[in-house]
Amino acid sequence: MERHALCLDLGGTNLKGGIVSQKGELSKHRNLPAEVEQGPERILQNLIRMTDMLLKEAGKDSIPIEGIGVSTPGIIDTDFGGLTGGAVNLPGWQNTPFMKALYDEFHIPVFAHNDVTATALGEATYGAGVGRKHVVMASVGTGIGGGIIINGRLYEGATGYAGEIGHIVTFAGGHTCNCGVKGCWEEYAALRGILRTAQEHLDRDAKRESSIFSTLDQEGELTPRIVFDAAREGDHLALGIVDEIGRNTAVGLGSLINIFDPDMLIIGGGIAEAGDIYLNAIRTHIPSWSLPDSREGVEIVLAKLGSKAGIFGASALVFGDINRYMK
Ligand SMILES: [Zn+2]
Repeated sequence: MERHALCLDLGGTNLKGGIVSQKGELSKHRNLPAEVEQGPERILQNLIRMTDMLLKEAGKDSIPIEGIGVSTPGIIDTDFGGLTGGAVNLPGWQNTPFMKALYDEFHIPVFAHNDVTATALGEATYGAGVGRKHVVMASVGTGIGGGIIINGRLYEGATGYAGEIGHIVTFAGGHTCNCGVKGCWEEYAALRGILRTAQEHLDRDAKRESSIFSTLDQEGELTPRIVFDAAREGDHLALGIVDEIGRNTAVGLGSLINIFDPDMLIIGGGIAEAGDIYLNAIRTHIPSWSLPDSREGVEIVLAKLGSKAGIFGASALVFGDINRYMK
């Protein structure tokens, strides 16, 4: 009988759930509002409700569930059965031993991990990284999170914080990051950095011929999408901005290539939805920021699983026996 995991992916807006087979087939996919604004008790109730619903569905089809995998913001403590830190957007969730609660309710082994790490594990196992053993994933959005898979195993570090790749310093003494350090990579290559770069190019452009100016007049607010859309149309100013975004992103990725010598680098997150124009800008600049011998073997690709990566990551926790709650 094929192995199956019951998977939960808790986000700031939605709680996703589903059953994933070890081959990577997702079934019974469900979406509930996470209701995080209603507090930790409600979040936990929703986790239990979703689990109960999925177990009944699995039971109807005689699918045996080997474990419950949970992807959640924050850092997991498997002794406590909840988080040790993080999850600032989910007030009170830190002090909720949800792994213990799920185990006590259903008596099925519970596994959990940080959502960014779970996403990386999902992409590496069932998405873009299938068949690869050494994978680094960078999720580029508001910040840059990551996940590191070495020899097929998730690298977690001594305290579970490994993969905070957005805070490697690529511009020492530069702009101050949310973490307090001046010059973190994510301050340049993620959302704030992209908007700053774009604004600098716009401010320098006296002719104002770029289509970005007219789009801005209509839409009011500068977004990465406006820049990437204009670049796809061949807008000269936009192409310059995208080139600099590619450079700023390649600076950090180059260091990751030098450190980990991966066979694949996966780029995901909201910014990566820009697609090939973004990927190509990055690829162009990688040779300037990495050692030739490490660089030659690495394939740089976009993530494939989109919003389902967390669910697949949760299943990989179960099948890989990662972060099991110890009762
Ligand atoms: Zn930082």
